[in-house]
Order: sequence, then structure tokens, then C-alpha cells
Amino acid sequence: MNSTNPSTVPNSDAPAAETATPEAHGQLMPHAPAKGDLYDDSVLNFEQLGLRSSVLKGVKEAGFERPTKIQAMLIPPIMAGKDMLGQAKTGSGKTAAFALPLLHALDKDAQFQALVLVPTRELCVQVAREVNELGKHTPIKAAAVYGGERINQQVETIKRGAHIVVSTPGRLMDMMERGYVHLRAIKHVVLDEVDRMLDIGFREDIRRILKQCPSERQTVFVSATLPEEVERLARGYSKNPERVIAIAKGAMTTAAVRQFYLAVQPWDRRRLLLHLLTHEEPALTVVFCRTKRTVDELAEFLVRHKIDAHPMHGDMYQSKRNKVIEKLHKGDLSVLVASDLAARGLDVDGITHVINYDIPEDAEVYVHRIGRTARIGREGVAWTFVMPDQGELLTNVENLINAEVPKLDYPDFKPSPPPPGRVALQPGGPVSEAKANQFNRYAFSATPPLPVVAKETAKAAADPRFPGGVVPSKLPPKRMFGKVKTAHGMKQAIDATLKTDPPPPPKPDAP
Ligand code: AMP
Repeated sequence: MNSTNPSTVPNSDAPAAETATPEAHGQLMPHAPAKGDLYDDSVLNFEQLGLRSSVLKGVKEAGFERPTKIQAMLIPPIMAGKDMLGQAKTGSGKTAAFALPLLHALDKDAQFQALVLVPTRELCVQVAREVNELGKHTPIKAAAVYGGERINQQVETIKRGAHIVVSTPGRLMDMMERGYVHLRAIKHVVLDEVDRMLDIGFREDIRRILKQCPSERQTVFVSATLPEEVERLARGYSKNPERVIAIAKGAMTTAAVRQFYLAVQPWDRRRLLLHLLTHEEPALTVVFCRTKRTVDELAEFLVRHKIDAHPMHGDMYQSKRNKVIEKLHKGDLSVLVASDLAARGLDVDGITHVINYDIPEDAEVYVHRIGRTARIGREGVAWTFVMPDQGELLTNVENLINAEVPKLDYPDFKPSPPPPGRVALQPGGPVSEAKANQFNRYAFSATPPLPVVAKETAKAAADPRFPGGVVPSKLPPKRMFGKVKTAHGMKQAIDATLKTDPPPPPKPDAP
């Protein structure tokens, strides 16, 4: 972005002077993640990045106190007009890293100057929402354009005056082919989650879109991983992109996520899930399943057991998915049962727990999933169900994140015997349980309950209140106010746990 001099830009208000001191930030950030993880020690506040004051006002209202690493790395070169390739995962603050320079640089009098391509509809809605939220004190507006909604309405929204269009590649191609939009005035292109876009199969659409943009443009690529194909795309469609990496190798997961696995037999998974949701304190939980059918069946099962659960998967109408997302944003929902595609890019504050009902086949999907929780500056918990024949999948995850995921046992959860006609699975095939346990730590123990100490040690290891794993022996049982979590009970839990404002009173019914 070449227009860093505010006096040359119609959307002009002077960059604010530096105000905050490092000390002040130290006090303001009691939960700041460990040094070298999320933040860059040399960039302590947004003022020093030279963003205009209207942008800084939005940043402040969003509650951002200091730039994350990817923001410190990307904002200055993007503001200077450079092409960039940045490696950053969801949850690192990557959206604001490209949104703030756009809000700073765009001309309020020119329409559709910036294009942001994203892989999914949900991410599309979220990115546009975040841009508009951060830019609410600027004249710059973003519109979300994605499949599943009426194309004419979206064209109207662009024409009414969107400076930034956030779009999935498929819908944008559709609009271009029908002659509704053209890309001749585009000055900035951002490709967000490039690796995902390529995985989903948007290769050709992306190439065709980039070819239609003027060659005199700025191009920014953001990707969680940097496989050769992403690098090639960036080299082919930008000018000497500077490459920045905001993820330490081997530290792909958010450090603030406390991760555990639970060994379970296939027939016990639903019961174990119900047990966790009713005996622990998950305020806002996302349960990930592999198939749409499991999503539907599991959500129905939970609702039958008085859990306030909502399904979300790709076969649901977009309007229904949007309703679920709205509920999530308002804090009106307790448990979301979701498939990967539906939940990708989901950016909702206050998700406390992620439960992998189905451990993903692809370890990177695990990283994406658990990135839903522990958003910047918060803690989160991820529980992964591992069936006896799935040990290898967990090992793959551990290899990718370069850390061991500890086991969590529930002495008060009694595994049931195999139903008629089924046998208890053992890891690695038909070997004796003792032998299996000896070699495979993912072994399912068919002889419950495990000693209480195992549970408490696991909890203690995870609980900052008990450093060194020493737990008071009279710890009260951890229950949801002593009752099964219903919609109402969980609502209270959300309010109490997250100290969020209670939702507004229900609107009176329309006449
Ligand atoms: P993203 O990586 O863009 O998905 O952002 C993850 C979450 O972090 C979003 O909820 C952002 O609003 C939030 N966020 C972004 N930047 C910051 C920051 N500097 N400080 C605190 N929260 C942030």
C-alpha cells in the first residue's frame, strides 16, 4: 500500500502519536501468552505501527492491546506497499494483520479497490465482520460475497458502496462470468488461508481471478502452512514477495490450549461425551465429527438428553448456518456439533472447549480445530476421543505439534461391556490387554475405575492452581452447579465463566 502518507489520502486522519508505555502494557496484559509465542517483544503497541487514528480507535474498541507477532511482521511492510507471503495460523491475529493496513490505505471515494479471497462461507462472513468492526470509525466498508445466498443481493451490496469485497473464489468467478463485477480497479488482493483454498480445489479459480486483476497491484498471501504449491503460487502472482513466518516450527498449536486424549471404546463414545458435558464445566463447546450424519445424530442424541446442542454442517441451508453462527456470537448457544468444513474459520470469542469426537485423519485438521478455542490471551481445553485402533492418528498429531498429549481418565465414568456380538478392541489387533498396554499407551483400560490419583494428577498437571500437580485431597467434585447442564444451566455457566454480559431480553413476538 503506497499511500502511507495520510495527507495524500481522502480517508485521512493523522497517525496517532505513541501513547502507551511498555510498563502500561505489562500491567494491561496479565494473561499475555509467553514471550516469543504470540507477541513480538519489539512492537509493544499499535501506535508505533503508524496506523491512522480512526483505525486505532477501532483497534482500541476491539480490545486489542498490543500487536501480535504476525501483525507486527505484516502491517509495516503491507503499509509500505510490499507484496507479502505470511505464514500464520487461525487465532494468531492474521485477519487484522491484513485488514488494518487496508483500512489505513484505502480511498473512501473509490469502490471495490480491495479483494480478500477466503476458502469458506463462514470465514467470509467473519472476515468481513472483523474488517467492518475494526474499521467502524473509518469510511471504509467491506461486503461478504459467498455461495448459498442470492447473488443479486450480494451484487447490490457491492454496488451500494463496498471498498473491500471478501469472497470465496467460486462465487466471485460466478459473478465475473455473469458480468456483474470486474476487477479492473483492484489495487490490493489478499489471499487468506491459501493452503485451505488449494486443498478445497480452488486452484484454477484463484489463478483466473488473479489474472484478471491489474498487474499494478499489491498481493498478500496468508497461509497456515507453506507447502511448495503455496510458495509457487505466491512467486507466480506477486512481485518478489517478502516471506514472514509467525509460527515457530513444532509449535503449531496455541500454547494456551490444554490438550488431553480420552481412550474410549466405540460403543461408549456418546455416553462419554454426555458425561463430559454434564460433569465438567465446558461453557461453550464445539464437538467435531467426521461426517454430516454423525453431526446430526449426535446433536439429536444430546438434545434428547437435555443438552442445548446445535448441529452445523455443509448440507444445511446457509441461512440456517448463519442463524447458528449468530447464536454463537451472542452467546446463546452451549454446544455446537460440527463438521470440519462448517466450522473452519469459525472465530467466536468464548469457546472454552473443543471435543474431537472423531479424531481427524489429517493431523493439521487437529491444529485447525483446536485453534477455535484459546483465542488470543485466553485459555482453552481440547479433549480428543481415541478408540483403540486410532493410536496412530494421535501419534501423528503429537509428531506435528511436537508435544505429547496426556491421557485423561474418568474414574466416575464406567465403560460398558461390549454389546452383544462385539468384542472390546485392543490397540494393534488381537493381543492380550496386558501386552497391549505395555506397548501402546493409547490402550483402552477395560478394568475401570482407574485410581483417583490418575484423574487428579492429570487435572493438576493442567490446572495452574495446583503447581507441581499437588491437589488438595478434599477438592469438591467438579460439577455444573450440581446439575445436568440444560440450556439454562449452561447459559448461567457461560455468564459466570466468561463474565460476559447477559444476552438482551427476548424481543416480543411480532404481531
Ligand atoms: P484471527 O487469527 O484473525 O482468526 O484472530 C483471532 C482472534 O484474535 C480474533 O477474535 C481477533 O479479533 C483477535 N485478535 C486479533 N488481534 C488481536 C490482538 N492484537 N490482541 C487481542 N486479540 C486480537
